[in-house]
Amino acid sequence: MTMFIAVLLLCVTLAQGSVLRETEEKCGYESCTQAKEGVLNVHIVPHTHDDVGWLKTVDQYYFGSRNNIQLAGVQYILDSVVKELWQDPKRRFMYVETAFFWKWWVRQSDDTKHKVHALVRQGRLQFVGGAWSMNDEAATHYQSTVDQFTWGLSKLNETFGPCGLPRVGWQIDPFGHSREFASVVAGMGYDGLLLGRIDFQDKARRLRSRSMETLWRGDDELGKPSDIFTGVLYNTYSPPPGFCFDVLCTDEPIIDDPDSPLYNVDSRVSTFLEYATNQSKHYLTNNVVVTMGGDFTYQDAAMWYQNLDKLIEYANLKAAKDGLKIKLFYSTPDCYLKAVKDAKPTLPTKQDDFFPYASDPTAFWTGYFTSRPTTKYFEREGNGYLQMVKQLQVLGGLEEHNRFVLNELKSAMGVMQHHDAITGTEKQAVTHDYERILHSAIEDAVIIARQAFNKFIQRDALKPPMFSFDRCRFNESSCHTSETSDTFVVTVYNPLAWNLKEAIKIPVLDGNYEVYAPNGEKIESQLIDIPEAVRNIPTRQSNATHEVAFIAYLHGLGVKSFYIKKVKKMKRDLNNKKRENDYYANINEYFKDIKEKSYIDIKNIEEFEKDVLEEKVPILNTDTEILENVQMLRDTENSRFGMLVKNMEVKKGRMEKSHYPVMSEEEMRMLSDEPAIVERFDDYLENEHIKVRIEKTTGEVTHVILPDRTLNMKVKMYYWTGCVGDNSNTTERSSGAYIFRPKTTTPIEIPYTHSDIIKGPVLQEARTTTDGNVFNTIRLYKGLNFLEHDFVVGPISIDDKVGKEYIVRYKSNVVNNGIFYTDSNGRQMLKRKLNERPQWNLTLEEPIAGNYYPVTNKIYIEDDQNRLAVLTDRAEGGTSLVEGDIELMLHRRLLHDDAFGVGEALNEVANGKGLVMRGRHRIMLSNPTDNNELLQERKQVLQFHLQPIVFVSSTTMEYKDWLTLNNCFVGIQTDLPLGVHLLTLEPWADKLLLRLENYMDRSANSTVEVDLTKIFNIITIKSFKETTLAANQWLDSYNKWTWETQNEFTESFNKAYDNFGEINTATDDVDVNDDGLKIKLKAKQIRTFIVDYEMTE
Ligand SMILES: [Zn+2]
Repeated sequence: MTMFIAVLLLCVTLAQGSVLRETEEKCGYESCTQAKEGVLNVHIVPHTHDDVGWLKTVDQYYFGSRNNIQLAGVQYILDSVVKELWQDPKRRFMYVETAFFWKWWVRQSDDTKHKVHALVRQGRLQFVGGAWSMNDEAATHYQSTVDQFTWGLSKLNETFGPCGLPRVGWQIDPFGHSREFASVVAGMGYDGLLLGRIDFQDKARRLRSRSMETLWRGDDELGKPSDIFTGVLYNTYSPPPGFCFDVLCTDEPIIDDPDSPLYNVDSRVSTFLEYATNQSKHYLTNNVVVTMGGDFTYQDAAMWYQNLDKLIEYANLKAAKDGLKIKLFYSTPDCYLKAVKDAKPTLPTKQDDFFPYASDPTAFWTGYFTSRPTTKYFEREGNGYLQMVKQLQVLGGLEEHNRFVLNELKSAMGVMQHHDAITGTEKQAVTHDYERILHSAIEDAVIIARQAFNKFIQRDALKPPMFSFDRCRFNESSCHTSETSDTFVVTVYNPLAWNLKEAIKIPVLDGNYEVYAPNGEKIESQLIDIPEAVRNIPTRQSNATHEVAFIAYLHGLGVKSFYIKKVKKMKRDLNNKKRENDYYANINEYFKDIKEKSYIDIKNIEEFEKDVLEEKVPILNTDTEILENVQMLRDTENSRFGMLVKNMEVKKGRMEKSHYPVMSEEEMRMLSDEPAIVERFDDYLENEHIKVRIEKTTGEVTHVILPDRTLNMKVKMYYWTGCVGDNSNTTERSSGAYIFRPKTTTPIEIPYTHSDIIKGPVLQEARTTTDGNVFNTIRLYKGLNFLEHDFVVGPISIDDKVGKEYIVRYKSNVVNNGIFYTDSNGRQMLKRKLNERPQWNLTLEEPIAGNYYPVTNKIYIEDDQNRLAVLTDRAEGGTSLVEGDIELMLHRRLLHDDAFGVGEALNEVANGKGLVMRGRHRIMLSNPTDNNELLQERKQVLQFHLQPIVFVSSTTMEYKDWLTLNNCFVGIQTDLPLGVHLLTLEPWADKLLLRLENYMDRSANSTVEVDLTKIFNIITIKSFKETTLAANQWLDSYNKWTWETQNEFTESFNKAYDNFGEINTATDDVDVNDDGLKIKLKAKQIRTFIVDYEMTE
């Protein structure tokens, strides 16, 4: 195909008289107008910013429909630009969003395609960024970012070859910038990254100190290979004031008829030159980039080019005439970057990130970290499906034509990464359209999974399918197939390359169910009723009243089926209390099959409890201690704001006890009824790893007891009330889709009203109800090393006409001194300090919103003894405002717009009611000095991100017949070594794309060897060739640029943030060599291979 195009192009080029001769054709840096030494080089960069959905849907933007909402049609932009570029070889244009470019490209005539090829070959049209969309950097996961770049860049590469290679990252609209993204961009081989939006205080400082350009280290563990030149644009991505020559603008054109009374060349040129000169005072080299464009500009490109032609011509004439040392010319981000590079600047460095983003003192763009939580969850599910079908297409050795549906899902996920999609900052109608796109792409792509499952089960691809493999809405505890069948098969796929245990829950009607594994073994299961709060979710369409829960042992890249049948037996006793007693009576039964040594001596469980309470729980044994505890909690509450405002230093150790408590009526009542006190404080959830103390009446967690230590912990729900104003100035700012601006400095607590405790052989849980439409479940599964918090939030009431933002606080006695850690796109962790920024002195008018950071997968706090980590099932906003607390925002419903363009309040409704969200957190308690525990925590992050995917098929097949099927497929030969993750496995023409990742930090033994011949079961890897991260350049043909820096990088930002006195400078990692097909992965390294392979089965 590529050859064919190349031959065709040659003919066309020779035939076209107006085109430069072939020998003169140059693309990339070689096509740049040379910057002149000793003068100010003004790079005029025509561009358009085309959101892949925002106020209109992707298609509405592309076709230019609904122009009453926004006058925007991308097809006209590209048509018009190509026409104008063709007129004059001096003109340049850059294009960014491959989703739109591709939509346009496939609709063009051969003639237009030939012209575009010529423009690209001559560097007149350059691709910048080039991913499917310009992704958000807060809510996105690195796996999806890498995927959407790979997808966009592969289109450019296969169409234009090396001349279609983008060299500059172009993130000019996303609302803050992540460090992991910098690392990813560096890994993909970009030479630089340009940004539009950074915090207004940071920008002011950078302008003052000429540090608008910096060398950003993306990852301390990776070091140099993650460095990327990063420039902040002067005027976001807009033209200088008065110089927007677009049909969307009303600025004056350049009028050069000296006889006209409107003649304005002299004044316009002077104004422009002054602007460019001013700009240059803030940058390090004698190059400035002037962005000439904006949102959906260039629908009539002639307006721009005619005026820019004149501006350039007259400005250069004036410069020549007046002897000004300034030169204007058409340029692109690539050419600007190259000119900066050639000027050899010495750059300042950066090792943190650009979050949170504030555009003025009250506009903290931290609300969007949580906005539209159900869309954020759906996007995460979409990634799970995409990874599954990519893997199964390979493992199943399936037909080539499946690529169509696979590509549809890649495109849909690329769209979802856009900075107005996953962020939740689009109009409601556009949200629905995103969901439509992703839903239908998943539906279509799942056919790949069905084909693969059928092939594995019957050992034959050609046999007609035996099962339907239906998808269910497990997040709403709903599954049509299982709730309407007495016998069904549950098929589970594990997309991770290691064996694991995971809890599976299948919605059913009440009854008795038996669960069988493929080896014929009946496995332990538990029937639990589905709580009211879940059953009442307005979007839920299900009659299921219960769930069958069991623990599945899953193989790496494995498919495993379970046979479940309803059996006729006596009705179980649903009385919780009764079951609880049974549980205690049968506790030996429950623990009998635990192989690992448990910290609980079962026979002496009472003594153990006594022991723990006396020694490790500092409270609650005597009346006085209860009083002190009550007061202690109150002190914590009261000190909240003091700590926030004064950033008061917190002493190490437990908080001081007060002498004379003030008791509420409730507390008095508690004390007057002593036996009840004993009762009410005495209940536990427990498994092999964790024991959780529950306050019986409210169901509240009070402590988490581990084999070697105890932690005070409470799970409390609150809401913030959103500020309301007309946004006429900063004090009148409303909380909205982008902006978080709470009205008060303390949130309103939502007290628990009712509780239930459920215990069985698979799981134990404490359920709590509140009157604020929040339902909580705290849960432990047999054998799993985390505590699960399952929450249903909503409908958020707006009867009082007040918008609300719901949060959870995990309150502990961890002494974190205002320090907390949040992840960067699910990969590295970054240290955060309350009311501080690492690189400048912060003035904070919004002490709540200004301390919020994006949490993609994980947030944690720690002291010497304990690390409390919360893993999220989707992107959320998080912080630690109060000592010992982790706060996460779960859901938002607001009644006002925040005036950043959406023009709608974030008021999501479903079926006429406020949108209800259900989510889960996994809480992990690790010993911060135990590397193995910390590694298990990292592994759990990956396991939570890529959860097993479950399908259900109704069947009339007898159990004995089912047993004859091949119900267990194992894709891997052996578990990948601990610390290694299979990031990508997908078909790549007739080869495979394989990405392996080391997820450990640097240490003496963090380099891991992986034998490529020993990963897969039915795939034999014959040879490989390594590429850059996005698989569009061979690694050995890529040369990384190096830059001089003003200072050396520190070894670790997280360590240096606290100890600026004793900074270790970074040392380069030692090179390691592969040994044939045994490859080595250094700490945090992701390696990408194009692999030649053979199927062996
Ligand atoms: Zn945008």
